[in-house]
Amino acid sequence: MDDSVGHHCGLAGTYNVPDAAARCYMGLFALQHRGQESAGIAVSDGKQVRTRKAMGLVTEVFSKADLDALSGHISIGHVRYSTTGSSRLANVQPLTIDTAHGQIAVAHNGNLVNARTLRDEFEAHGSIFQTSTDSEVIVHLLAQPEFRTYEEGLLGSLPRILGAYSFIFMTPDKLMAARDPQGFRPLVLGRITVPGQLGSIGEGWMIASETCALDQAGAVFEREIEPGELVVIDAEGLRSRRFAKPRPAHCMFEHVYFARPDSRIFGDYVHEVRLRLGGRLAREHPVQADVVTGVPDSGNVAAQGFARASGIPFDFGFIRSHYVGRSFIKPEQMQREQVVDMKFNAVRSVVDGKRVVVVDDSLVRGTTFRRQAKLLREAGATEIHLRISCPPTRHACYYGIDFLSRGELIAGRLKTVEAIREYLGIESLGYLSVEGLLSVVSQPKAHYCTACWAGEYPVPPVDVMDKLGMEKC
Ligand code: SF4
Repeated sequence: MDDSVGHHCGLAGTYNVPDAAARCYMGLFALQHRGQESAGIAVSDGKQVRTRKAMGLVTEVFSKADLDALSGHISIGHVRYSTTGSSRLANVQPLTIDTAHGQIAVAHNGNLVNARTLRDEFEAHGSIFQTSTDSEVIVHLLAQPEFRTYEEGLLGSLPRILGAYSFIFMTPDKLMAARDPQGFRPLVLGRITVPGQLGSIGEGWMIASETCALDQAGAVFEREIEPGELVVIDAEGLRSRRFAKPRPAHCMFEHVYFARPDSRIFGDYVHEVRLRLGGRLAREHPVQADVVTGVPDSGNVAAQGFARASGIPFDFGFIRSHYVGRSFIKPEQMQREQVVDMKFNAVRSVVDGKRVVVVDDSLVRGTTFRRQAKLLREAGATEIHLRISCPPTRHACYYGIDFLSRGELIAGRLKTVEAIREYLGIESLGYLSVEGLLSVVSQPKAHYCTACWAGEYPVPPVDVMDKLGMEKC
């Protein structure tokens, strides 16, 4: 029913923290926006790894009794939105596997672009895969007998995999994390100081997809895990190893849409970036209007930026119900479109008799906005001007974002902005340019991926397959 882009996954892990499962749970709860299909936590007490994972939201998967049963001081957790492999229990992470080197648990965010090729090689030599995810190839690479330790195995294996990966690994006595040389997906390191920390090093650590998870789990942001870096934390402390030269290509969609506005990723605060995106949008596509509003929740910050730069007042023209979710029971006679209407309503006192600028962060099928435009008209809006804080999305993402197929994307189906405006039935439409997008972030322009808008891929895909491409195996 939703006209949105699929989120991907969220990761959290802790080391040397007495309440490891609870901290990991808090981190995953903060990362729920990155994946709502399933959740899992594995915990080690230094000897034994215990795991709980299931389909559902973090709050549905874990009870207090579950967390109490996960005793230990090292943890690793995952929330999943499936981008490779179907949404089923066998694919829920962390994957926990026993090899000749001992137990290891793996949590992955991103999509590998040569997973099919590697899997074919392993299967040709008799390996049996347990899941239909791309993530499992790393486990088979690590299990190779030529490596004496997992650390050595990671340094030898990571250069063989291509694409997007932020990984957290846990063995009974270590927490490890790695980020691909492009740093497509965010991954951050924090410190936790609590009484009762174990061992002589006296420091607790947390690794997570976004800083909002550190904040909510009581950790203090230390730094980002660097592209091409492997971090190992064990009884000897924290050490950083390099397995590849960094070639940054951070996902700009994280700033536009995915990451939480209270997070800091790729060296910038997401909230500030979104404000600047809105400001730049106002300069690129000015309009005479009476009020600026955002499509809640994700369009609100860019709408604020648009309002500040244009001098047009901001107000809340839409209300979004947060309770129309998976549990909403669609009455028999209700149409799919009506369910969308249940999610949003226009605020008549804000839009009646007004020329309204609506700011949103993406336009996927366009069907939802058509309904929203109808709601605004019914509430008395005299003109509707839509502004999108990124360029038209016309190309596939191979790095872990689940866009629709080109035929379903409105900018794939309709070639011109004018044709899209006409389809939406509104007075004007403006998209931010790629240059505009890259003008609001602090790193050099070449350090960001914009492939879904510009069509230039930082890592050419080796295996082009859909989400269920591994299911036949
Ligand atoms: S193609 Fe788009 S969504 Fe995918 S990583 Fe690049 S910027 Fe992000």
